[in-house]
Amino acid sequence: MPSVFIKTYGCQMNERDSEAVAAQLVAKGYSLAKSEAMADVVLLNTCSVRDMAERKALNKMANMIGIAKKERPNQVFGFMGCMAQSRGQELVDKLPDVDLVVGTQKFHRTADYLDEILAGRREKIVDTAAEEKSEAAIREHLLNGNAQTSVSAFVSIMQGCNQYCTFCIVPYTRGEERSRTIDDIVAECRDLVSRGVKEITLLGQIVTSYGKRGVGRADLPVSQGSAPIQTPPILPNAGTTSPSPPRSGGEGRGEVVLRAQGEGHSKKSPFVQLLDAVHAIDGLERIRFTSPHPKGYGDDLVEAYARLPKLCESAHLPVQSGSDRLLKIMHRGYTRERFLGIIEKLRRAKPGIGLSTDIIVGFPGETEEDFEQTLSIAREVEFDQAYIFKYSPRRDTPAADMEGQLPTAVKEERNERLLRLVNEIAARNYEKLVNTQVQILVEGPSKKNPARMMGRTRCNKIVVFDGSERHRGQIMDVKITRAGSFTLYGDPAILE
Ligand code: SAM
Repeated sequence: MPSVFIKTYGCQMNERDSEAVAAQLVAKGYSLAKSEAMADVVLLNTCSVRDMAERKALNKMANMIGIAKKERPNQVFGFMGCMAQSRGQELVDKLPDVDLVVGTQKFHRTADYLDEILAGRREKIVDTAAEEKSEAAIREHLLNGNAQTSVSAFVSIMQGCNQYCTFCIVPYTRGEERSRTIDDIVAECRDLVSRGVKEITLLGQIVTSYGKRGVGRADLPVSQGSAPIQTPPILPNAGTTSPSPPRSGGEGRGEVVLRAQGEGHSKKSPFVQLLDAVHAIDGLERIRFTSPHPKGYGDDLVEAYARLPKLCESAHLPVQSGSDRLLKIMHRGYTRERFLGIIEKLRRAKPGIGLSTDIIVGFPGETEEDFEQTLSIAREVEFDQAYIFKYSPRRDTPAADMEGQLPTAVKEERNERLLRLVNEIAARNYEKLVNTQVQILVEGPSKKNPARMMGRTRCNKIVVFDGSERHRGQIMDVKITRAGSFTLYGDPAILE
């Protein structure tokens, strides 16, 4: 059978989609190649969140095709994922040697489509149509290529996004929110745990909106009966049209449905009900989730941190900006004060909770004053980690047409300043952990130095130590001896 190489750009959702496609291909008898040069088929799973990610994938494909023309004339090439969805046929028009374009609701068709192309039954396939129930199609796992035990696994609980932040392309590439059922997700988690997985990260574009709309609500007590089931819209291709965003933002609609249906059942949001159900799985040690929306940290979720021992005390809260003026234009649905209130509640529920965030610098019209507000929120919260993005205009998004687009030099300078601040704060706080004892789950060899082992604290900090394979999958207490840049080093002396 042919061999396949998959290269992934972008977020953890994309990594997970690629893993599922790879597992589906392996189940059909395909082998996984170690490099593009050794593969019969090369698939690029693409990201559209920033222009740079799109350009990287396009350049990579053009280079590979150029080499293949001389050295591997029968090699098959495909695009999958977000850029495949938003550009569709345009990709084949631009690069006529591309054989396959698979959109974000069609990952599970990839293996069948490759069979058809390789057998010569079809020459080219472009499929970016919407498909009902596709949110439940990302379920197969590779678990480190079956060769080793995976300690940690990602489980996709939903697809799509209804938030329509004015900078973000995701609602246009991933479609409307559609959630899997709790039963379906729990069955997948149980299977993973039976195969040795100890930690599960629940994945979605905005996991805190889980179950608020879409097909997966049927088995949720809060939504029995009257929830309208929405079919995903056809997504725009080639940037010609876009669905109109809801005026009041995504989460509001869901909250109304919940309040109406919560009485007599549970006041917990569907996401917290899902956490409860996953928490009940015997043998599972740790639960994490990403990405949530700050608005989604209601009291039920904050309380879940205090109530559910398997839920790790680590939270990602993408703040995007510290300026109320910009938060409003970004359509984020919270103010600086509300954001800080959520942080305070989380810290009260779980002192020492690990906090990370996403921040955009250089959003259209961002003044020095707005940026100062972002610096000050970073100082006030003291995030353990911040992913900083220079604003990148995305087609079909309102912000791309806003006045006040800033020069690259301004974005770069603000990026540098914020990065310096975040790094200083993180270094100080990591240093404070030296000589403390932390609990880690050992995942395997350290990526940077495979002679050593690495694990993660409950607060999501990486700890490297002199261990061995026998420690993999173990939960152990380690004394921190040294702090590096976003890495802690543990004392092996207390491991025995
Ligand atoms: N849906 C998830 C969320 O909202 O957290 C993930 C979206 S995206 C992969 C992750 C981050 O990319 C966002 O939180 C935002 O900071 C950043 N981002 C999104 N659109 C962007 C843009 N046009 N320019 C720069 N950064 C952007």
